[in-house]
Amino acid sequence: MLNFHPGSHLGRISEADCLARIAESINEAHARTRTVVAVLENTAGQGTNLGHRFEHLSAIIEAVEDKTRVGVCLDTCHAFAAGYDLRSAEATTATLDEFGAVIGFDYLRGMHLNDARSAFASRVDRHHSLGQGNIGLAAFTTLMRDPRIDDIPLILETIDSSLWAEEIAWLRAQQFEPS
Ligand SMILES: [Zn+2]
Repeated sequence: MLNFHPGSHLGRISEADCLARIAESINEAHARTRTVVAVLENTAGQGTNLGHRFEHLSAIIEAVEDKTRVGVCLDTCHAFAAGYDLRSAEATTATLDEFGAVIGFDYLRGMHLNDARSAFASRVDRHHSLGQGNIGLAAFTTLMRDPRIDDIPLILETIDSSLWAEEIAWLRAQQFEPS
Protein backbone atom coordinates (compact mmCIF):
# COMPACT_ATOMS: atom_id res chain seq x y z
CA MET A 1 0.00 0.00 0.00
CA LEU A 2 1.30 3.43 -0.92
CA ASN A 3 -0.25 6.27 1.03
CA PHE A 4 -0.13 9.77 -0.45
CA HIS A 5 -1.90 13.13 -0.51
CA PRO A 6 -3.80 13.47 -3.80
CA GLY A 7 -2.22 16.76 -4.93
CA SER A 8 -2.95 20.41 -5.68
CA HIS A 9 -4.49 22.17 -8.67
CA LEU A 10 -2.36 25.32 -8.09
CA GLY A 11 -5.11 27.42 -9.67
CA ARG A 12 -4.01 26.19 -13.11
CA ILE A 13 -6.78 23.70 -13.79
CA SER A 14 -10.26 23.22 -12.38
CA GLU A 15 -10.93 20.97 -9.37
CA ALA A 16 -12.75 18.49 -11.61
CA ASP A 17 -9.86 18.35 -14.10
CA CYS A 18 -7.39 17.94 -11.24
CA LEU A 19 -9.36 15.04 -9.73
CA ALA A 20 -9.54 13.41 -13.18
CA ARG A 21 -5.80 13.83 -13.64
CA ILE A 22 -5.05 12.23 -10.27
CA ALA A 23 -7.22 9.23 -11.20
CA GLU A 24 -5.52 9.03 -14.60
CA SER A 25 -2.11 8.98 -12.87
CA ILE A 26 -3.25 6.14 -10.61
CA ASN A 27 -4.49 4.20 -13.65
CA GLU A 28 -1.10 4.73 -15.28
CA ALA A 29 0.75 3.56 -12.15
CA HIS A 30 -1.54 0.52 -11.89
CA ALA A 31 -0.83 -0.39 -15.51
CA ARG A 32 2.90 -0.51 -14.77
CA THR A 33 2.69 -2.43 -11.48
CA ARG A 34 0.97 -5.56 -10.30
CA THR A 35 0.27 -5.34 -6.61
CA VAL A 36 0.56 -1.78 -5.31
CA VAL A 37 -2.61 -0.32 -3.78
CA ALA A 38 -2.88 3.47 -4.13
CA VAL A 39 -4.09 4.84 -0.79
CA LEU A 40 -5.42 8.40 -0.94
CA GLU A 41 -5.09 10.34 2.29
CA ASN A 42 -7.71 12.96 3.05
CA THR A 43 -6.09 16.38 3.43
CA ALA A 44 -6.66 19.48 5.55
CA GLY A 45 -7.17 21.47 2.34
CA GLN A 46 -4.26 23.88 2.69
CA GLY A 47 -3.78 26.12 -0.33
CA THR A 48 -5.14 24.45 -3.47
CA ASN A 49 -4.75 20.93 -2.03
CA LEU A 50 -7.56 18.59 -3.02
CA GLY A 51 -8.73 15.59 -1.02
CA HIS A 52 -10.17 17.61 1.86
CA ARG A 53 -13.75 16.68 0.95
CA PHE A 54 -14.82 13.04 1.01
CA GLU A 55 -16.46 13.82 -2.36
CA HIS A 56 -13.00 14.53 -3.86
CA LEU A 57 -11.78 11.09 -2.83
CA SER A 58 -14.90 9.34 -4.10
CA ALA A 59 -14.61 11.18 -7.46
CA ILE A 60 -11.02 9.94 -7.81
CA ILE A 61 -12.00 6.36 -6.87
CA GLU A 62 -14.88 6.54 -9.35
CA ALA A 63 -12.44 7.22 -12.19
CA VAL A 64 -9.90 4.56 -11.17
CA GLU A 65 -10.31 1.45 -13.30
CA ASP A 66 -9.00 -1.17 -10.86
CA LYS A 67 -11.06 -0.52 -7.73
CA THR A 68 -9.31 -3.39 -5.91
CA ARG A 69 -6.09 -1.35 -5.90
CA VAL A 70 -7.35 1.99 -4.61
CA GLY A 71 -8.29 2.97 -1.07
CA VAL A 72 -8.36 5.76 1.47
CA CYS A 73 -6.43 6.62 4.61
CA LEU A 74 -8.45 8.80 6.97
CA ASP A 75 -6.38 11.27 9.00
CA THR A 76 -8.31 12.67 11.98
CA CYS A 77 -6.41 15.98 12.16
CA HIS A 78 -6.87 16.61 8.43
CA ALA A 79 -10.59 15.73 8.56
CA PHE A 80 -11.14 18.05 11.51
CA ALA A 81 -9.21 20.91 9.90
CA ALA A 82 -11.23 20.34 6.73
CA GLY A 83 -14.51 20.81 8.60
CA TYR A 84 -15.52 17.29 9.70
CA ASP A 85 -16.38 17.63 13.37
CA LEU A 86 -14.81 15.17 15.83
CA ARG A 87 -15.28 17.10 19.08
CA SER A 88 -17.70 14.61 20.67
CA ALA A 89 -18.65 10.95 20.38
CA GLU A 90 -21.80 11.95 18.45
CA ALA A 91 -19.90 14.22 16.04
CA THR A 92 -17.29 11.51 15.46
CA THR A 93 -19.94 8.91 14.66
CA ALA A 94 -21.66 11.38 12.31
CA THR A 95 -18.35 12.03 10.51
CA LEU A 96 -17.80 8.27 10.15
CA ASP A 97 -21.36 7.88 8.85
CA GLU A 98 -20.64 10.53 6.24
CA PHE A 99 -17.42 8.75 5.29
CA GLY A 100 -19.44 5.55 4.86
CA ALA A 101 -22.11 7.24 2.76
CA VAL A 102 -19.76 9.20 0.48
CA ILE A 103 -16.75 6.85 0.17
CA GLY A 104 -17.70 3.56 1.82
CA PHE A 105 -15.80 1.60 4.47
CA ASP A 106 -14.80 -1.00 1.86
CA TYR A 107 -12.24 1.56 0.70
CA LEU A 108 -10.82 2.36 4.16
CA ARG A 109 -7.27 0.97 4.25
CA GLY A 110 -5.79 2.85 7.18
CA MET A 111 -6.16 5.70 9.62
CA HIS A 112 -3.79 8.34 10.93
CA LEU A 113 -4.65 9.22 14.52
CA ASN A 114 -3.78 12.78 15.48
CA ASP A 115 -5.24 15.48 17.60
CA ALA A 116 -5.22 18.92 15.96
CA ARG A 117 -3.35 22.05 16.96
CA SER A 118 -5.27 23.70 14.11
CA ALA A 119 -8.79 25.03 14.62
CA PHE A 120 -11.94 23.35 13.34
CA ALA A 121 -12.48 23.96 9.60
CA SER A 122 -9.32 26.12 9.48
CA ARG A 123 -7.87 24.08 6.60
CA VAL A 124 -4.51 24.26 8.37
CA ASP A 125 -2.56 21.01 8.90
CA ARG A 126 -1.00 21.01 12.40
CA HIS A 127 -0.94 17.77 14.37
CA HIS A 128 -1.02 17.53 18.15
CA SER A 129 -0.72 14.86 20.86
CA LEU A 130 -3.92 12.99 21.70
CA GLY A 131 -6.07 14.97 24.11
CA GLN A 132 -3.95 18.12 23.86
CA GLY A 133 -5.50 19.64 20.76
CA ASN A 134 -8.87 20.89 19.57
CA ILE A 135 -10.30 17.41 18.88
CA GLY A 136 -10.01 15.95 22.37
CA LEU A 137 -10.09 12.38 23.61
CA ALA A 138 -13.75 11.46 22.98
CA ALA A 139 -13.12 11.05 19.25
CA PHE A 140 -10.37 8.50 19.82
CA THR A 141 -12.40 6.46 22.31
CA THR A 142 -15.24 6.41 19.77
CA LEU A 143 -12.92 5.38 16.93
CA MET A 144 -11.36 2.56 18.96
CA ARG A 145 -14.82 1.13 19.70
CA ASP A 146 -16.41 1.50 16.26
CA PRO A 147 -16.66 -1.93 14.60
CA ARG A 148 -16.32 -0.31 11.15
CA ILE A 149 -12.67 0.34 12.03
CA ASP A 150 -11.86 -3.14 13.34
CA ASP A 151 -8.74 -4.59 11.63
CA ILE A 152 -7.85 -1.25 10.01
CA PRO A 153 -4.18 -0.26 10.53
CA LEU A 154 -4.02 2.75 12.87
CA ILE A 155 -0.95 4.94 12.69
CA LEU A 156 -0.07 7.55 15.28
CA GLU A 157 1.44 10.74 13.80
CA THR A 158 1.42 12.83 16.96
CA ILE A 159 4.13 15.36 17.59
CA ASP A 160 5.78 14.25 20.86
CA SER A 161 7.59 10.92 20.54
CA SER A 162 8.10 10.77 24.32
CA LEU A 163 4.31 10.28 24.65
CA TRP A 164 3.88 7.59 21.99
CA ALA A 165 4.08 4.56 24.34
CA GLU A 166 1.52 6.13 26.66
CA GLU A 167 -0.75 7.17 23.77
CA ILE A 168 -0.69 3.67 22.25
CA ALA A 169 -1.45 2.05 25.63
CA TRP A 170 -4.31 4.50 26.17
CA LEU A 171 -5.74 3.79 22.68
CA ARG A 172 -5.59 0.04 23.25
CA ALA A 173 -7.40 0.42 26.58
CA GLN A 174 -10.24 2.32 24.88
CA GLN A 175 -11.34 -0.79 22.99
CA PHE A 176 -12.96 -2.07 26.16
CA GLU A 177 -16.10 -0.49 27.58
CA PRO A 178 -15.63 0.38 31.27
CA SER A 179 -17.55 -2.11 33.43
ZN1 LIG B 1 -1.57 11.73 8.05
